[in-house]
Amino acid sequence: MGREFEYVIVGGGVAAGYTSLEFTNRGLSHGQLCIISEESVAPYERPTLSKGFLLPESPARLPLFHTCVGANEELLTPQWYEEHGIELVLGTRVESVDVGHKTLLTAPGETIHYQILIIATGAQALKLEEFGVNGSEAENICYLRDLADANRLVNVMQSCTGGSAVVIGGGYLAMECAASLVSNKMDVTMVFPEAHCMPRLFTPKIATYYEDYYQSRGVKFIRGTILSSFEFDSNGKVTAVNLRDGNRIPADMVVVGIGIRPNTSLFKGQLRMEKGGIKVNGKFQTSNSSVYAVGDVAVFPVDLYGRIHRLEHVDSARKSAKHAVAAILDPDKTGEFEYLPLFYSKAFAFSWRFYGDNAGEAVHFGDYLGTTFGAYWINNGRLVGSFLEGGTEEEFEAIGNATRLKLTVDDPDDLGRQGLNFALTV
Ligand code: FAD
Ligand code: NDP
Repeated sequence: MGREFEYVIVGGGVAAGYTSLEFTNRGLSHGQLCIISEESVAPYERPTLSKGFLLPESPARLPLFHTCVGANEELLTPQWYEEHGIELVLGTRVESVDVGHKTLLTAPGETIHYQILIIATGAQALKLEEFGVNGSEAENICYLRDLADANRLVNVMQSCTGGSAVVIGGGYLAMECAASLVSNKMDVTMVFPEAHCMPRLFTPKIATYYEDYYQSRGVKFIRGTILSSFEFDSNGKVTAVNLRDGNRIPADMVVVGIGIRPNTSLFKGQLRMEKGGIKVNGKFQTSNSSVYAVGDVAVFPVDLYGRIHRLEHVDSARKSAKHAVAAILDPDKTGEFEYLPLFYSKAFAFSWRFYGDNAGEAVHFGDYLGTTFGAYWINNGRLVGSFLEGGTEEEFEAIGNATRLKLTVDDPDDLGRQGLNFALTV
Protein backbone atom coordinates (compact mmCIF):
# COMPACT_ATOMS: atom_id res chain seq x y z
CA MET A 1 0.00 0.00 0.00
CA GLY A 2 2.58 2.61 1.09
CA ARG A 3 2.20 5.86 2.97
CA GLU A 4 -0.07 8.67 1.83
CA PHE A 5 0.36 12.42 2.28
CA GLU A 6 -1.79 15.31 1.20
CA TYR A 7 1.26 17.20 -0.07
CA VAL A 8 4.56 15.75 -1.24
CA ILE A 9 7.58 17.78 -2.35
CA VAL A 10 10.13 15.97 -4.54
CA GLY A 11 13.50 17.59 -3.92
CA GLY A 12 14.90 19.15 -0.75
CA GLY A 13 16.61 22.36 -1.86
CA VAL A 14 15.82 26.05 -1.67
CA ALA A 15 12.29 25.86 -3.06
CA ALA A 16 11.41 22.94 -0.78
CA GLY A 17 12.48 24.92 2.29
CA TYR A 18 10.44 28.00 1.36
CA THR A 19 7.46 25.83 0.41
CA SER A 20 7.53 24.24 3.87
CA LEU A 21 7.68 27.58 5.65
CA GLU A 22 4.77 28.95 3.63
CA PHE A 23 2.68 25.85 4.32
CA THR A 24 3.25 26.18 8.07
CA ASN A 25 2.62 29.95 8.02
CA ARG A 26 -0.72 29.29 6.39
CA GLY A 27 -1.62 26.45 8.75
CA LEU A 28 -0.43 22.90 8.24
CA SER A 29 -1.49 19.87 10.26
CA HIS A 30 1.00 17.25 11.40
CA GLY A 31 1.43 14.47 8.85
CA GLN A 32 0.10 16.45 5.88
CA LEU A 33 3.43 17.26 4.21
CA CYS A 34 6.34 15.04 3.17
CA ILE A 35 9.62 16.10 1.56
CA ILE A 36 11.76 13.53 -0.23
CA SER A 37 15.31 14.61 -0.97
CA GLU A 38 18.33 12.91 -2.43
CA GLU A 39 20.52 15.10 -0.25
CA SER A 40 21.32 13.91 3.27
CA VAL A 41 20.67 17.28 4.93
CA ALA A 42 17.57 19.44 5.39
CA PRO A 43 17.01 22.24 2.83
CA TYR A 44 19.68 24.93 2.90
CA GLU A 45 20.53 28.19 1.15
CA ARG A 46 22.46 26.84 -1.85
CA PRO A 47 24.10 30.23 -2.69
CA THR A 48 26.24 29.92 0.46
CA LEU A 49 28.16 27.05 -1.13
CA SER A 50 30.15 29.31 -3.47
CA LYS A 51 30.52 32.15 -0.94
CA GLY A 52 30.57 31.80 2.87
CA PHE A 53 31.20 28.04 2.71
CA LEU A 54 34.50 28.57 0.89
CA LEU A 55 35.88 31.31 3.16
CA PRO A 56 39.37 30.57 4.51
CA GLU A 57 38.37 31.82 7.98
CA SER A 58 35.16 31.12 9.91
CA PRO A 59 33.46 29.48 6.92
CA ALA A 60 29.68 29.07 7.03
CA ARG A 61 28.60 25.58 8.08
CA LEU A 62 25.25 23.94 8.69
CA PRO A 63 23.02 24.32 10.59
CA LEU A 64 23.65 28.07 10.20
CA PHE A 65 22.55 28.32 6.56
CA HIS A 66 19.48 26.13 6.41
CA THR A 67 16.56 27.84 4.67
CA CYS A 68 15.04 30.31 5.19
CA VAL A 69 17.78 32.53 6.65
CA GLY A 70 18.67 33.84 3.18
CA ALA A 71 15.45 35.84 3.16
CA ASN A 72 15.86 36.82 6.84
CA GLU A 73 13.17 34.36 7.82
CA GLU A 74 13.11 31.45 10.23
CA LEU A 75 15.99 28.93 10.35
CA LEU A 76 14.43 25.58 9.49
CA THR A 77 16.59 22.97 11.23
CA PRO A 78 15.75 19.26 11.07
CA GLN A 79 14.17 19.77 14.50
CA TRP A 80 11.87 22.45 13.05
CA TYR A 81 10.48 19.93 10.52
CA GLU A 82 9.96 17.43 13.32
CA GLU A 83 8.19 19.97 15.52
CA HIS A 84 5.88 20.92 12.64
CA GLY A 85 5.03 17.31 11.84
CA ILE A 86 6.67 17.46 8.40
CA GLU A 87 8.06 14.13 7.23
CA LEU A 88 11.61 14.76 5.99
CA VAL A 89 12.84 11.77 4.00
CA LEU A 90 16.52 12.48 3.40
CA GLY A 91 19.22 10.68 1.41
CA THR A 92 16.46 9.17 -0.72
CA ARG A 93 16.16 9.50 -4.46
CA VAL A 94 12.74 9.41 -6.10
CA GLU A 95 13.15 6.88 -8.90
CA SER A 96 9.84 7.31 -10.68
CA VAL A 97 6.58 9.20 -10.50
CA ASP A 98 3.23 8.17 -11.93
CA VAL A 99 1.21 11.37 -12.14
CA GLY A 100 -1.82 9.47 -13.46
CA HIS A 101 -2.03 7.36 -10.28
CA LYS A 102 -0.60 10.07 -7.98
CA THR A 103 2.16 7.83 -6.70
CA LEU A 104 5.92 7.87 -6.59
CA LEU A 105 8.54 5.23 -5.95
CA THR A 106 11.67 5.91 -3.91
CA ALA A 107 15.03 4.23 -4.47
CA PRO A 108 14.65 1.99 -1.37
CA GLY A 109 11.39 0.76 -2.89
CA GLU A 110 8.72 2.65 -0.94
CA THR A 111 5.60 3.73 -2.80
CA ILE A 112 4.21 7.05 -1.61
CA HIS A 113 0.77 8.38 -2.51
CA TYR A 114 0.00 12.08 -2.74
CA GLN A 115 -2.94 14.34 -3.42
CA ILE A 116 -0.80 17.29 -4.55
CA LEU A 117 2.78 16.92 -5.76
CA ILE A 118 5.25 19.82 -5.79
CA ILE A 119 8.26 19.33 -8.02
CA ALA A 120 11.33 21.09 -6.64
CA THR A 121 14.09 18.96 -8.12
CA GLY A 122 16.32 21.87 -9.19
CA ALA A 123 19.13 21.20 -11.58
CA GLN A 124 22.40 19.37 -12.10
CA ALA A 125 25.73 20.71 -13.30
CA LEU A 126 26.53 20.19 -16.96
CA LYS A 127 29.51 17.87 -17.31
CA LEU A 128 32.50 18.48 -19.57
CA GLU A 129 31.89 15.07 -21.14
CA GLU A 130 28.81 16.61 -22.76
CA PHE A 131 31.20 18.93 -24.61
CA GLY A 132 33.46 16.08 -25.69
CA VAL A 133 36.10 16.41 -22.94
CA ASN A 134 36.73 13.22 -20.97
CA GLY A 135 38.12 12.56 -17.50
CA SER A 136 36.20 15.10 -15.43
CA GLU A 137 35.52 12.52 -12.72
CA ALA A 138 39.18 12.83 -11.60
CA GLU A 139 39.53 13.49 -7.87
CA ASN A 140 40.92 17.02 -8.25
CA ILE A 141 38.24 18.24 -10.70
CA CYS A 142 35.33 19.87 -8.91
CA TYR A 143 31.79 20.73 -9.91
CA LEU A 144 29.65 22.63 -7.43
CA ARG A 145 25.96 21.98 -7.02
CA ASP A 146 25.40 20.52 -3.57
CA LEU A 147 26.90 20.25 -0.12
CA ALA A 148 28.80 17.07 -0.99
CA ASP A 149 30.42 18.89 -3.93
CA ALA A 150 31.28 21.85 -1.69
CA ASN A 151 32.91 19.62 0.94
CA ARG A 152 34.92 17.95 -1.78
CA LEU A 153 35.99 21.31 -3.24
CA VAL A 154 37.21 22.47 0.19
CA ASN A 155 39.18 19.23 0.70
CA VAL A 156 40.80 19.44 -2.72
CA MET A 157 41.64 23.12 -2.21
CA GLN A 158 43.18 22.44 1.19
CA SER A 159 45.24 19.58 -0.22
CA CYS A 160 47.00 21.97 -2.63
CA THR A 161 47.09 25.34 -0.82
CA GLY A 162 49.23 27.82 -2.70
CA GLY A 163 48.96 25.74 -5.87
CA SER A 164 47.28 26.58 -9.14
CA ALA A 165 43.60 26.29 -9.92
CA VAL A 166 42.02 26.46 -13.35
CA VAL A 167 38.40 27.63 -13.40
CA ILE A 168 36.45 26.59 -16.49
CA GLY A 169 33.59 28.96 -17.37
CA GLY A 170 32.89 32.68 -17.12
CA GLY A 171 29.46 32.65 -15.51
CA TYR A 172 28.14 33.07 -11.97
CA LEU A 173 29.76 30.01 -10.48
CA ALA A 174 33.14 30.62 -12.08
CA MET A 175 33.29 34.26 -10.93
CA GLU A 176 32.34 33.43 -7.35
CA CYS A 177 34.59 30.37 -7.12
CA ALA A 178 37.56 32.22 -8.63
CA ALA A 179 37.23 34.89 -5.93
CA SER A 180 36.96 32.25 -3.20
CA LEU A 181 40.00 30.38 -4.54
CA VAL A 182 42.04 33.61 -4.51
CA SER A 183 40.96 34.25 -0.91
CA ASN A 184 42.33 30.78 -0.18
CA LYS A 185 45.69 31.79 -1.68
CA MET A 186 45.33 29.76 -4.86
CA ASP A 187 46.87 30.94 -8.12
CA VAL A 188 43.80 31.15 -10.40
CA THR A 189 43.36 31.06 -14.17
CA MET A 190 39.88 31.43 -15.67
CA VAL A 191 39.10 30.04 -19.12
CA PHE A 192 35.91 30.88 -21.01
CA PRO A 193 34.77 31.05 -24.63
CA GLU A 194 33.51 34.64 -24.76
CA ALA A 195 35.27 38.00 -24.90
CA HIS A 196 34.15 38.87 -21.36
CA CYS A 197 32.87 37.25 -18.20
CA MET A 198 29.10 37.04 -17.58
CA PRO A 199 28.26 37.95 -21.19
CA ARG A 200 24.59 37.10 -20.90
CA LEU A 201 24.07 39.80 -18.28
CA PHE A 202 27.02 42.17 -18.10
CA THR A 203 27.81 44.85 -20.66
CA PRO A 204 31.49 44.87 -21.70
CA LYS A 205 31.97 47.96 -19.49
CA ILE A 206 30.62 46.23 -16.39
CA ALA A 207 32.54 43.03 -17.15
CA THR A 208 35.77 44.97 -17.65
CA TYR A 209 35.42 46.59 -14.23
CA TYR A 210 35.27 43.21 -12.48
CA GLU A 211 37.90 41.62 -14.71
CA ASP A 212 40.33 44.46 -13.94
CA TYR A 213 39.82 43.95 -10.24
CA TYR A 214 40.19 40.16 -10.49
CA GLN A 215 43.42 40.68 -12.45
CA SER A 216 44.69 43.03 -9.75
CA ARG A 217 44.13 40.13 -7.32
CA GLY A 218 46.24 37.85 -9.52
CA VAL A 219 43.53 36.09 -11.55
CA LYS A 220 44.58 35.37 -15.15
CA PHE A 221 41.92 35.36 -17.87
CA ILE A 222 42.15 33.23 -20.98
CA ARG A 223 39.28 34.32 -23.19
CA GLY A 224 37.81 33.12 -26.44
CA THR A 225 38.74 29.47 -26.10
CA ILE A 226 37.64 26.27 -24.41
CA LEU A 227 39.19 23.22 -22.89
CA SER A 228 40.18 20.42 -25.24
CA SER A 229 41.67 17.81 -22.87
CA PHE A 230 43.22 17.07 -19.47
CA GLU A 231 46.63 15.62 -18.64
CA PHE A 232 46.79 13.15 -15.76
CA ASP A 233 49.55 11.70 -13.54
CA SER A 234 49.90 7.99 -12.84
CA ASN A 235 47.38 8.29 -9.96
CA GLY A 236 44.73 9.69 -12.26
CA LYS A 237 45.02 13.24 -10.90
CA VAL A 238 44.87 16.13 -13.33
CA THR A 239 48.18 17.90 -13.77
CA ALA A 240 47.37 20.25 -16.66
CA VAL A 241 44.59 21.41 -18.97
CA ASN A 242 45.03 21.77 -22.72
CA LEU A 243 43.06 24.44 -24.52
CA ARG A 244 41.79 24.57 -28.08
CA ASP A 245 43.98 27.59 -28.79
CA GLY A 246 47.06 25.46 -28.07
CA ASN A 247 47.71 26.80 -24.56
CA ARG A 248 48.64 24.34 -21.80
CA ILE A 249 48.01 25.36 -18.17
CA PRO A 250 49.47 23.36 -15.29
CA ALA A 251 46.81 22.70 -12.65
CA ASP A 252 46.70 21.33 -9.12
CA MET A 253 42.94 21.50 -9.23
CA VAL A 254 40.14 22.41 -11.67
CA VAL A 255 36.73 23.93 -10.93
CA VAL A 256 34.07 23.62 -13.61
CA GLY A 257 31.06 25.96 -13.91
CA ILE A 258 29.64 25.62 -17.40
CA GLY A 259 25.93 25.76 -16.73
CA ILE A 260 23.17 23.45 -15.58
CA ARG A 261 20.38 21.19 -16.77
CA PRO A 262 17.04 21.14 -14.89
CA ASN A 263 16.11 17.80 -13.32
CA THR A 264 12.95 17.03 -15.27
CA SER A 265 13.54 13.46 -16.44
CA LEU A 266 11.08 11.91 -13.92
CA PHE A 267 8.28 13.71 -15.75
CA LYS A 268 9.16 13.31 -19.43
CA GLY A 269 6.12 12.14 -21.35
CA GLN A 270 3.86 12.91 -18.36
CA LEU A 271 3.92 16.70 -18.07
CA ARG A 272 4.19 19.41 -20.67
CA MET A 273 7.80 20.51 -21.12
CA GLU A 274 9.04 23.68 -22.77
CA LYS A 275 12.35 25.52 -23.00
CA GLY A 276 14.09 22.68 -21.18
CA GLY A 277 11.86 22.89 -18.11
CA ILE A 278 8.40 22.01 -16.86
CA LYS A 279 5.77 24.38 -18.20
CA VAL A 280 3.52 25.90 -15.53
CA ASN A 281 0.85 28.57 -15.48
CA GLY A 282 0.94 31.77 -13.41
CA LYS A 283 0.05 29.69 -10.34
CA PHE A 284 2.87 27.15 -10.90
CA GLN A 285 0.42 24.43 -11.85
CA THR A 286 1.71 22.04 -14.48
CA SER A 287 -0.27 20.41 -17.29
CA ASN A 288 -1.55 18.00 -14.59
CA SER A 289 -3.74 19.94 -12.14
CA SER A 290 -2.48 17.94 -9.12
CA VAL A 291 1.15 18.71 -9.86
CA TYR A 292 2.99 22.00 -9.28
CA ALA A 293 6.58 22.84 -10.24
CA VAL A 294 8.72 25.56 -8.62
CA GLY A 295 12.30 26.82 -8.61
CA ASP A 296 14.88 26.03 -11.29
CA VAL A 297 12.69 23.48 -13.11
CA ALA A 298 9.67 25.75 -13.67
CA VAL A 299 9.06 27.57 -16.96
CA PHE A 300 6.55 30.27 -16.03
CA PRO A 301 5.06 33.42 -17.59
CA VAL A 302 7.25 36.46 -16.90
CA ASP A 303 5.21 39.55 -17.76
CA LEU A 304 8.20 41.84 -18.16
CA TYR A 305 9.75 39.51 -20.74
CA GLY A 306 6.40 39.01 -22.47
CA ARG A 307 7.05 35.27 -22.65
CA ILE A 308 7.44 32.16 -20.56
CA HIS A 309 10.87 31.70 -19.07
CA ARG A 310 12.91 29.52 -16.73
CA LEU A 311 15.01 31.33 -14.13
CA GLU A 312 17.96 29.78 -12.29
CA HIS A 313 18.11 32.14 -9.34
CA VAL A 314 17.37 31.87 -5.68
CA ASP A 315 14.90 34.75 -5.47
CA SER A 316 12.61 33.13 -8.02
CA ALA A 317 12.99 29.75 -6.26
CA ARG A 318 11.89 31.33 -2.97
CA LYS A 319 9.03 33.37 -4.39
CA SER A 320 7.73 30.72 -6.79
CA ALA A 321 7.58 28.29 -3.85
CA LYS A 322 5.53 30.72 -1.76
CA HIS A 323 3.21 31.56 -4.62
CA ALA A 324 2.55 27.91 -5.41
CA VAL A 325 1.55 27.23 -1.79
CA ALA A 326 -0.80 30.24 -1.83
CA ALA A 327 -2.34 28.94 -5.06
CA ILE A 328 -2.75 25.44 -3.61
CA LEU A 329 -4.28 26.53 -0.30
CA ASP A 330 -6.18 29.59 -1.41
CA PRO A 331 -6.83 29.30 -5.15
CA ASP A 332 -9.62 31.86 -5.29
CA LYS A 333 -7.62 34.61 -3.62
CA THR A 334 -4.36 33.89 -5.43
CA GLY A 335 -3.76 35.66 -8.70
CA GLU A 336 -1.09 35.20 -11.32
CA PHE A 337 2.55 35.42 -10.23
CA GLU A 338 3.71 38.97 -10.89
CA TYR A 339 7.44 38.74 -10.78
CA LEU A 340 10.25 41.18 -11.30
CA PRO A 341 13.35 39.01 -11.91
CA LEU A 342 16.12 39.64 -9.39
CA PHE A 343 19.66 38.29 -9.74
CA TYR A 344 22.53 39.03 -7.36
CA SER A 345 26.05 38.00 -6.61
CA LYS A 346 28.74 38.58 -4.00
CA ALA A 347 32.45 38.01 -4.53
CA PHE A 348 35.50 39.57 -2.85
CA ALA A 349 33.99 42.75 -1.31
CA PHE A 350 31.66 43.21 -4.28
CA SER A 351 27.91 42.96 -4.07
CA TRP A 352 25.59 43.64 -6.98
CA ARG A 353 21.93 43.24 -7.86
CA PHE A 354 20.15 43.22 -11.17
CA TYR A 355 16.41 43.70 -11.56
CA GLY A 356 14.31 43.12 -14.66
CA ASP A 357 15.47 42.47 -18.19
CA ASN A 358 18.73 43.46 -19.90
CA ALA A 359 17.01 44.14 -23.22
CA GLY A 360 17.54 47.24 -25.33
CA GLU A 361 20.07 50.03 -24.81
CA ALA A 362 22.30 50.04 -21.73
CA VAL A 363 22.94 53.40 -20.04
CA HIS A 364 25.83 53.34 -17.58
CA PHE A 365 26.02 55.57 -14.53
CA GLY A 366 28.15 56.18 -11.47
CA ASP A 367 31.84 55.88 -10.80
CA TYR A 368 33.45 53.06 -12.77
CA LEU A 369 36.77 53.94 -11.12
CA GLY A 370 35.25 53.75 -7.66
CA THR A 371 32.99 51.34 -5.85
CA THR A 372 29.40 52.36 -6.71
CA PHE A 373 28.19 52.22 -10.28
CA GLY A 374 25.48 50.71 -12.39
CA ALA A 375 23.45 50.61 -15.56
CA TYR A 376 19.87 50.99 -16.69
CA TRP A 377 18.41 49.21 -19.72
CA ILE A 378 15.94 51.15 -21.86
CA ASN A 379 13.67 49.30 -24.25
CA ASN A 380 11.03 51.06 -26.37
CA GLY A 381 11.42 54.23 -24.28
CA ARG A 382 10.90 52.46 -20.95
CA LEU A 383 13.16 51.38 -18.13
CA VAL A 384 13.19 47.57 -18.18
CA GLY A 385 16.33 46.64 -16.26
CA SER A 386 18.75 48.01 -13.70
CA PHE A 387 22.08 46.94 -12.28
CA LEU A 388 23.85 48.34 -9.25
CA GLU A 389 27.19 47.49 -7.67
CA GLY A 390 27.93 48.58 -4.13
CA GLY A 391 24.54 50.05 -3.26
CA THR A 392 22.93 50.42 0.13
CA GLU A 393 19.75 48.47 0.84
CA GLU A 394 17.76 51.64 0.15
CA GLU A 395 19.51 52.15 -3.20
CA PHE A 396 19.01 48.55 -4.28
CA GLU A 397 15.34 48.79 -3.42
CA ALA A 398 15.05 52.07 -5.31
CA ILE A 399 16.40 50.64 -8.58
CA GLY A 400 14.11 47.64 -8.17
CA ASN A 401 11.15 49.89 -7.60
CA ALA A 402 11.95 52.11 -10.60
CA THR A 403 12.27 49.01 -12.79
CA ARG A 404 9.01 47.55 -11.52
CA LEU A 405 7.25 50.78 -12.55
CA LYS A 406 8.72 50.56 -16.08
CA LEU A 407 9.19 54.32 -16.06
CA THR A 408 9.27 56.24 -19.32
CA VAL A 409 12.70 57.52 -20.31
CA ASP A 410 12.79 60.40 -22.81
CA ASP A 411 16.48 61.15 -22.73
CA PRO A 412 18.94 58.32 -22.04
CA ASP A 413 21.85 60.79 -21.69
CA ASP A 414 19.99 62.63 -18.98
CA LEU A 415 19.21 59.31 -17.29
CA GLY A 416 22.93 58.53 -17.29
CA ARG A 417 23.68 61.92 -15.71
CA GLN A 418 21.00 61.45 -13.04
CA GLY A 419 22.22 57.93 -12.30
CA LEU A 420 21.02 56.61 -8.97
CA ASN A 421 19.15 59.83 -8.21
CA PHE A 422 16.70 58.91 -10.95
CA ALA A 423 15.62 55.84 -8.98
CA LEU A 424 15.94 57.48 -5.57
CA THR A 425 13.56 60.29 -6.46
CA VAL A 426 10.77 58.13 -7.90
P1 FAD B 1 17.81 23.12 -5.64
O1 FAD B 1 18.09 24.10 -4.56
O2 FAD B 1 18.93 22.70 -6.52
O3 FAD B 1 17.19 21.83 -4.96
C1 FAD B 1 16.86 20.67 -5.70
C2 FAD B 1 16.79 19.50 -4.74
O4 FAD B 1 16.15 18.40 -5.37
C3 FAD B 1 18.15 18.99 -4.30
O5 FAD B 1 18.12 18.76 -2.91
C4 FAD B 1 18.32 17.68 -5.08
O6 FAD B 1 19.16 16.75 -4.43
C5 FAD B 1 16.87 17.21 -5.08
N1 FAD B 1 16.54 16.21 -6.10
C6 FAD B 1 16.73 16.28 -7.43
N2 FAD B 1 16.25 15.18 -8.05
C7 FAD B 1 15.74 14.40 -7.06
C8 FAD B 1 15.10 13.11 -7.05
N3 FAD B 1 14.88 12.41 -8.17
N4 FAD B 1 14.73 12.61 -5.86
C9 FAD B 1 14.94 13.30 -4.70
N5 FAD B 1 15.52 14.50 -4.67
C10 FAD B 1 15.91 15.04 -5.82
N6 FAD B 1 21.16 32.13 -7.17
C11 FAD B 1 21.14 33.46 -6.88
O7 FAD B 1 20.17 34.14 -7.23
N7 FAD B 1 22.17 34.05 -6.21
C12 FAD B 1 23.27 33.36 -5.83
O8 FAD B 1 24.18 33.94 -5.26
C13 FAD B 1 23.33 31.97 -6.13
N8 FAD B 1 24.41 31.25 -5.79
C14 FAD B 1 24.47 29.93 -6.12
C15 FAD B 1 25.61 29.20 -5.77
C16 FAD B 1 25.71 27.86 -6.12
C17 FAD B 1 26.94 27.10 -5.76
C18 FAD B 1 24.67 27.24 -6.83
C19 FAD B 1 24.79 25.79 -7.22
C20 FAD B 1 23.53 27.94 -7.17
C21 FAD B 1 23.41 29.29 -6.80
N9 FAD B 1 22.29 30.05 -7.12
C22 FAD B 1 22.23 31.38 -6.81
C23 FAD B 1 21.12 29.43 -7.76
C24 FAD B 1 20.11 28.95 -6.70
O9 FAD B 1 20.77 28.28 -5.68
C25 FAD B 1 19.08 28.06 -7.37
O10 FAD B 1 18.36 28.85 -8.28
C26 FAD B 1 18.14 27.44 -6.33
O11 FAD B 1 18.85 26.61 -5.46
C27 FAD B 1 17.03 26.65 -7.01
O12 FAD B 1 16.24 26.07 -6.04
P2 FAD B 1 15.49 24.67 -6.32
O13 FAD B 1 14.83 24.30 -5.02
O14 FAD B 1 14.71 24.78 -7.55
O15 FAD B 1 16.66 23.63 -6.60
P1 NDP C 1 26.05 29.91 -16.12
O1 NDP C 1 25.05 29.45 -17.09
O2 NDP C 1 25.87 31.17 -15.36
O3 NDP C 1 27.46 30.08 -16.82
C1 NDP C 1 28.08 29.08 -17.56
C2 NDP C 1 29.25 29.71 -18.30
O4 NDP C 1 30.06 28.69 -18.84
C3 NDP C 1 28.80 30.60 -19.44
O5 NDP C 1 29.65 31.72 -19.49
C4 NDP C 1 28.98 29.67 -20.64
O6 NDP C 1 29.18 30.34 -21.85
C5 NDP C 1 30.24 28.96 -20.23
N1 NDP C 1 30.46 27.70 -20.93
C6 NDP C 1 29.53 26.89 -21.49
N2 NDP C 1 30.13 25.81 -22.01
C7 NDP C 1 31.46 25.94 -21.78
C8 NDP C 1 32.60 25.13 -22.07
N3 NDP C 1 32.50 23.97 -22.71
N4 NDP C 1 33.81 25.57 -21.67
C9 NDP C 1 33.93 26.74 -21.00
N5 NDP C 1 32.89 27.54 -20.70
C10 NDP C 1 31.67 27.13 -21.07
O7 NDP C 1 26.22 28.67 -15.12
P2 NDP C 1 27.21 28.44 -13.90
O8 NDP C 1 27.84 27.11 -14.11
O9 NDP C 1 28.08 29.63 -13.71
O10 NDP C 1 26.23 28.37 -12.65
C11 NDP C 1 25.48 27.18 -12.43
C12 NDP C 1 24.13 27.53 -11.87
O11 NDP C 1 24.27 28.08 -10.59
C13 NDP C 1 23.34 28.53 -12.68
O12 NDP C 1 21.99 28.20 -12.60
C14 NDP C 1 23.56 29.83 -11.97
O13 NDP C 1 22.46 30.71 -12.11
C15 NDP C 1 23.69 29.34 -10.54
N6 NDP C 1 24.55 30.23 -9.77
C16 NDP C 1 24.10 31.48 -9.56
C17 NDP C 1 24.85 32.35 -8.83
C18 NDP C 1 24.31 33.72 -8.64
O14 NDP C 1 23.20 33.99 -9.07
N7 NDP C 1 25.05 34.60 -8.00
C19 NDP C 1 26.15 31.97 -8.27
C20 NDP C 1 26.56 30.63 -8.60
C21 NDP C 1 25.76 29.80 -9.32
P3 NDP C 1 27.91 30.71 -22.77
O15 NDP C 1 27.27 31.89 -22.10
O16 NDP C 1 28.54 31.06 -24.07
O17 NDP C 1 27.02 29.51 -22.82
